[in-house]
Amino acid sequence: MAITLDDLPIRDDLRGQSPYGAPQKKVPVALNVNENTHPIPEDVARDIVESVAAAVLEVNRYPDREFTPLREALARYLSAALEPDKAIEPGQIWAANGSNEVIQQILQAFGGPGRTALGFPPTYSMHSIITRGTGTEWVEAPRDEGFEISPETVAREIRRVDPDIVFLCAPNNPTGTPVELATIEAAYEAARGIVLVDEAYAEFMPADRPSAVTLLEGRPRLLVSRTMSKAFAFAGARVGYLAADPAVIDALRLVRLPYHLSSLTQAAAVAALRHANEMLAMVDDIKAQRDRIVETLTELGYHPWPTWSNFVLFGGVDDPEAVFEQLLARGIIVRDLAIPGHLRVSAGTAAETTAFLEAMSDIRLGA
Ligand code: PMP
Repeated sequence: MAITLDDLPIRDDLRGQSPYGAPQKKVPVALNVNENTHPIPEDVARDIVESVAAAVLEVNRYPDREFTPLREALARYLSAALEPDKAIEPGQIWAANGSNEVIQQILQAFGGPGRTALGFPPTYSMHSIITRGTGTEWVEAPRDEGFEISPETVAREIRRVDPDIVFLCAPNNPTGTPVELATIEAAYEAARGIVLVDEAYAEFMPADRPSAVTLLEGRPRLLVSRTMSKAFAFAGARVGYLAADPAVIDALRLVRLPYHLSSLTQAAAVAALRHANEMLAMVDDIKAQRDRIVETLTELGYHPWPTWSNFVLFGGVDDPEAVFEQLLARGIIVRDLAIPGHLRVSAGTAAETTAFLEAMSDIRLGA
């Protein structure tokens, strides 16, 4: 008889848990995991390959454990959007294999058995999965109307739960909802522990809206995580990062595995960051496609929520599972997050977005 998970001497607190499970299907129009669906420009790809090729010649050696050139490049990238006196120093930067790994290291350093993390669902599923995976207790608090979190709500819930770690996803996945800086400031004031702002989608916010990175000075318990997986079109390379006080970086050094970022990853990421403008060239187009989705779905009678990211959560879907399947039959995959009456779609290229919107129109008309 086949052995199942339950037959193994697995940790009691992992029994009955579900793994991260976004379906991975090869379909012509994949709009289900908020990737940047635009391929990276060929000249950039060539530069990345040349950098990786040079790194391969030294792959007999362990990589730079401090990934110094990458931290310098990330600090430069973040600082470009800030006033010169607010620049981020390389000593404030940490990176890992995707922001998921950064988040896991944060939980390893600041969470663990006997500690608690607070989140505001619906939110990014990995926050609770990573929390539980590190033996940390996951506690949930309600949002306000329209998935928003006011400064009053965040402060009240933090005082009620008294968590060691607070997760704020800004903008929030899967709803797209922005988080005002006032909410982050209020969370920091109310919390005695870490406030982690997950800014995976920051580049898709309106250009004049400041990032939580602007709040770092004087707030050593505030951590802002970012990723190269979304706007930067680098999901397959697995590079996420964090900006925080240098003391936080010291804490992460205690839990990271030595040499966790391969020399090939470091070389690829540094090369990509040399071309930041080209890598990000599609962000404006993606935002335009996102706005088109909101507009057209509204015309079709659905209820898209306001979004500052590269995806749209929309309600008014009578049977999300059926619509998901009807789209899949047309070669289009979106995300069914089991939010009643809702589906989520990522903004694609103009052609992919058109394919999705035409399919939604056909489905509405019963065609
Ligand atoms: N945070 C949020 C809010 C996300 O949506 C995602 C990816 N879906 C991540 C973090 C993780 O991204 P990565 O590990 O690719 O950096």
